[in-house]
Amino acid sequence: MRSTLIIGNWKMNGKSRNLAEVNKLLDGLNGQSCDLVLCPPATLIAQMAAAVKGSPIQVGGQDCHWNSMGPHTGDISPEMIADAGGEYVILGHSERRSDHGETDAMVNAKCVAALAAGLTCIVCVGETKADKSAENTLSVIEKQLHASIPENVQLSKLVVAYEPVWAIGTGLTPTISEIIDVHTFMRRKLIECFGDKACSVPLAYGGSVNADNASEILAQSNVSGVLVGGASLRAEDFLRIVSCAA
Ligand code: PEP
Repeated sequence: MRSTLIIGNWKMNGKSRNLAEVNKLLDGLNGQSCDLVLCPPATLIAQMAAAVKGSPIQVGGQDCHWNSMGPHTGDISPEMIADAGGEYVILGHSERRSDHGETDAMVNAKCVAALAAGLTCIVCVGETKADKSAENTLSVIEKQLHASIPENVQLSKLVVAYEPVWAIGTGLTPTISEIIDVHTFMRRKLIECFGDKACSVPLAYGGSVNADNASEILAQSNVSGVLVGGASLRAEDFLRIVSCAA
């Protein structure tokens, strides 16, 4: 039985003073049995990892390079994330794909490197509004899954997040039946690729998750977690989502 996974993605938000939210979060946790991961900007990984040490919260990066070191100005390697105390990394977020032209092949290479550094990879897939309108959702997801996840991935170090691009930060979400369909499809495709062991890979939904919709989303079979952007920034909002995982 997988425990529910709640991931917070702070995106390009947060300075040292915002770590106060993490302390509030720690104070507000009440014996929850879910797995909690916070992915702050790279500048806060080490401080946040120190702040949550010994607590149920784990820390992750929002991206990494596929090399472990070298002439890549502005980039951060998976080893650096691990060295700073991070245990997870988000890969292939749609904002990386659109802002930085990340391809599935790049996401795949990052995943190989992150796994080698001991990180758990949260690989994001999701269709654009145009893909959805053209009824291409499942074919887009299939292609992204196939090309973004390395063939020899350690399944125990993989999380797949379904994040429809049109739902991120918009307040829009797919219908529950669309969420069920995509997660069931992803589970089937992962089993086709990796066998029955892929039943244990956590599948998370992301896109405008909040305290009002989290319970219903998390109750669906094959949805084992949520990836939360905006609502992860304030401890109060995030705790309300965490309480839906009980
Ligand atoms: C995200 O950043 O991955 C995300 C899902 O954002 P939001 O929850 O704000 O839609």
